[in-house]
Amino acid sequence: MAAPSTPPPAPKSVFDLTLDDWIGWADYHGHPKFRAKQIVQWLYEKRVSSFDEMTNLSQDLRARLADAFEFTLLPHVRVTGSTDTTQKFLFRLHDGRLIETVRIPANANFHGDRSNRITLCVSSQVGCAYDCKFCASGLAGFTRNLTVAEIVGQVLSVEKESGEPIRNIVFMGMGEPLANLTNLTKALEILNSDWGINIGARHMTVSTSGLAPQIEKLAKIPMQVRLAISLHGATDEVRNQIMPVNQRYNLNRLFEAIQTWQDHKKQMITFEYILIEGINDSLEQAEVLAKRAKSLHAKVNLIPYNTVEGLPWKRPDEAQQEAFVNFLTNAGISATLRREKGHDIEAACGQLRLQEETAEGIIERSTPEVKRSISNSR
Ligand code: SAH
Repeated sequence: MAAPSTPPPAPKSVFDLTLDDWIGWADYHGHPKFRAKQIVQWLYEKRVSSFDEMTNLSQDLRARLADAFEFTLLPHVRVTGSTDTTQKFLFRLHDGRLIETVRIPANANFHGDRSNRITLCVSSQVGCAYDCKFCASGLAGFTRNLTVAEIVGQVLSVEKESGEPIRNIVFMGMGEPLANLTNLTKALEILNSDWGINIGARHMTVSTSGLAPQIEKLAKIPMQVRLAISLHGATDEVRNQIMPVNQRYNLNRLFEAIQTWQDHKKQMITFEYILIEGINDSLEQAEVLAKRAKSLHAKVNLIPYNTVEGLPWKRPDEAQQEAFVNFLTNAGISATLRREKGHDIEAACGQLRLQEETAEGIIERSTPEVKRSISNSR
């Protein structure tokens, strides 16, 4: 069934609330504070899936909860890949929209960390409004922000499906997380709190195309989450060509925001830098990038461009990739060349596209010329 064009408002889910919200809710209904703690314990520690299982709450309170809240995990429509490789989950939202989440096991994770850790690449919006010229996610434009429950729900559903805890989160799925800052901030609190999912703040990375004012807001939140900037160009000239957001917040403005981040968080940030042949892969760009990275205390994560059907860009050959990374390393910058997993199942960065369920199965929504049918089994 095609998704309706005006989506119904999201029903309030139990996974939308922080502990403080629960305390407020309990208080409003004449219940003591400890009831709120019991509720979050059932939700996040015991992971029950119905109000009936919350046996230390009165029938009356359970009925009131059932009246006020939805209690469903995100259903997945399709899982691609196996548990010991990169896996892509396609979830269906209440309004029929589809989003993707990518689960990356330890040997393939983004930080080169070899301990037994699983990283989840989470989506923050349906579609994306920022129109980066190289990325599949924005090809069909922006549909809507994800709710808190839809962000948190990606983690809960994948943990339930795989039976293993997620240790790292990267907000590098579909969407611009900082354009959904209110919901992102609440979701981060639920993910990080010891009453919630209990993932270390330093193990959560928010990636942005460069929304300077929102970077400054997130800098002031008392949580040591990490920041990744999708830079992809070391000069305004190059960046303007491939990232329209740069016309709103140019590099000077972006660097000012990063400075505010550093002042508050006192931590290294990451510059994500896709290498695109003939666009940003020259050693002149590497030289400017090295200067920027040094002055802003940033490490650089180089990503050879992943091809996107319908887009003209290519990755440079390996010799050019090596020359670029070596230039940075020789300039004293901590730089890595990401050898990415998931390319074959289109689960790699920038390959997550807007999809839709129709009578014929799941189709990719993008510009009309590249719209094409894909089978349910892929
Ligand atoms: N909007 C946020 C979050 C998305 S993260 C941001 O821009 O950071 C997705 C990452 O994949 C970003 O670093 C993005 O620039 C990168 N990316 C997009 N298209 C890509 C492609 N085709 N190949 C490799 N990386 C890509």
